[in-house]
Amino acid sequence: MDLLITGGTVVDPASGFMGPADVAISGVRIVAIGPGLVARPEGGDAGTGSGAAARVLDATGCFVTPGLVDLHLHSYWGVNPFGMDADPICRATGVTTGVDAGSAGPVNFGGFRALVYERTVTRMLAFVALAQHGVWKDPGELEDLRFADATAAARTVSGNRDIAVGIKVRLHLPSVGEHGRAALRLAIKAGEASGSPVMVHVGNTGISMEEIVDTLRPGDIVTHCYTPQRPSVVDPEGRVLPAALRAHERGVIFDVGHANNHFDFDLVRRALDQGLVPDVISTDLHGRLAPGNPVVDLPTTMSKLLALGLTLEQVVARCTSIPARVIGWGDRIGALAVGREADVAVLAVVEEPTTLRDSVGGTLQADRRIEARWTIRAGVVVGGSAQP
Ligand SMILES: [Zn+2]
Repeated sequence: MDLLITGGTVVDPASGFMGPADVAISGVRIVAIGPGLVARPEGGDAGTGSGAAARVLDATGCFVTPGLVDLHLHSYWGVNPFGMDADPICRATGVTTGVDAGSAGPVNFGGFRALVYERTVTRMLAFVALAQHGVWKDPGELEDLRFADATAAARTVSGNRDIAVGIKVRLHLPSVGEHGRAALRLAIKAGEASGSPVMVHVGNTGISMEEIVDTLRPGDIVTHCYTPQRPSVVDPEGRVLPAALRAHERGVIFDVGHANNHFDFDLVRRALDQGLVPDVISTDLHGRLAPGNPVVDLPTTMSKLLALGLTLEQVVARCTSIPARVIGWGDRIGALAVGREADVAVLAVVEEPTTLRDSVGGTLQADRRIEARWTIRAGVVVGGSAQP
């Protein structure tokens, strides 16, 4: 073996396993998971992978999880107005797969492959925008609906199955003006034609939340699900919309997509109390976030849901096995299993007072926070607070 992660507690929501175990990696793959693995010299036990002088990471007191999946970020930097070089922050924070949320459309998706996917250590997958040029700003990408091309968007997904995972559409007024209903329909059409999920940006929309969630198919994704912008998933009295609960019940995916504007502790508490638990925890990190923004990174966003009452296992599932399944990659990423590519996060739950911030000026005093000690991508330690 080349790398041995020893002494930690494995949390693998895909298999339901949580307990003490070591993880052995040889080359790019996981070759053994179990208690008491040792880095043997040349000719050692084949069951643990043979080979001399494996690097050993002491994960005592830490949680060893599948590499994190951030379902919503923007990494098409230098091209898209929301782009940022997300690779460094992903590497630093346990994220081995990022999913760009529509920075590229059918016209410029080839550039995403060449400039982002092929150049990043993080596996950068992508939703393809319904808009030909990707999500945009001033003017919004679909203020002129002629930029919507469902056929081309579907063809782009179908022609790039190795990195394209679905269709992205933003329905908020600055993106789409009064074309929200038409854009939603076209996005669903593209999703159907490509056999892939549609991710819908909600908040500040011209059509109702009920209409949006009722139109989505099981497997489609509501991102910014806890946005305080109207219409949100709670009514003005703080009751979760029955339509949202119904949609969740039939398999529509609710994704956090934190960003600057879309996380409100009070609203999240109400939603959790009434049974609207998010399926996926994501950041929506992008290049227009102000310095000192409340998102920070994926472990910080995870810490917020942990502080609001989700268990560690629930939080980890929402950043590993569930987003992997949502994008149809459940057989490749988001799980720790022998034979899989070795994407691993070693996370510490640091017990210390922490002030967490939301998008509307709210704070939450937590007594612990999640931090990534090591990020391992395809068998290589690529970052984390304890690196090298
Ligand atoms: Zn976004």
